[in-house]
Amino acid sequence: MIVGARVIGVLELTTDVAGVVDDATLDIMRSLAGQAATAIEAARLHRRADEMSHTDVLTGLPNRRRLETDLGAEVARSVRYERPLTLVMLDVDHFKIFNDTHGHQVGDEILAEFSHSLADALRETDTADRYGGEEFCVLLRETDPAAAAAVAERLRTRIADRFAGTNGSRAVTASLGVASLPDDGNDAASLIEAADRALYAAKAAGRNCVVQASDLPPSTATPVRAVLIGGKPSA
Ligand code: GH3
Ligand code: MG
Ligand code: MG
Repeated sequence: MIVGARVIGVLELTTDVAGVVDDATLDIMRSLAGQAATAIEAARLHRRADEMSHTDVLTGLPNRRRLETDLGAEVARSVRYERPLTLVMLDVDHFKIFNDTHGHQVGDEILAEFSHSLADALRETDTADRYGGEEFCVLLRETDPAAAAAVAERLRTRIADRFAGTNGSRAVTASLGVASLPDDGNDAASLIEAADRALYAAKAAGRNCVVQASDLPPSTATPVRAVLIGGKPSA
């Protein structure tokens, strides 16, 4: 089976009738092989385009579109089977200053490295996505708030250690907001909103720390108190 100048497969025919297959049969089979090759190639290209539209080019992580699809499915599964699910939102601290100091190119490199560290630190069942800019989301499946707090804190320290820099001038940290189903939300939108609120509180608490949505006062758009799980608030 050939597409352009590429062989993409082989169609093998067998018959239990002895003798040579005639030309008319061969012509039909060649035509069928050609059509099959075209269909297979079209499906391959379609899958590739679909993958690319769900992948962030800079970091190679799944993008926000993929997260929203995955989150919808995971929330539905968690609600149905009454299983815990946690969403962690991470935002790189003071990244504008970092870019201004070291240049956008170095900033890009840091974001790519940051993404690899994040993905490496997770279990196979958990996923990291680039939500946009210097914001990332991590979906922790089958993870309740207590376990999620430990994972988030591990992520925070790993990032702080990994990007501590030699003289501190290139140090990079992140703030994390954690929200879990069912405690902090009952659908994808409320879970994102809760994680975002916790992230905002982590920023307000001094950055380079983790805040859980369940530790915030209920239903306030702007938290008045942030409870630190870990990390040292910085100036
Ligand atoms: P905060 O601690 O409050 O999050 O401060 P911040 O400076 O990180 O936040 P702010 O929203 O003010 O700025 C975000 C910065 O992230 C500015 C923007 O240029 C940078 N950024 C976003 N996406 C990229 C990217 O793809 N590459 C680079 N190099 N920088 C990016
Ligand atoms: Mg930031
Ligand atoms: Mg941001």
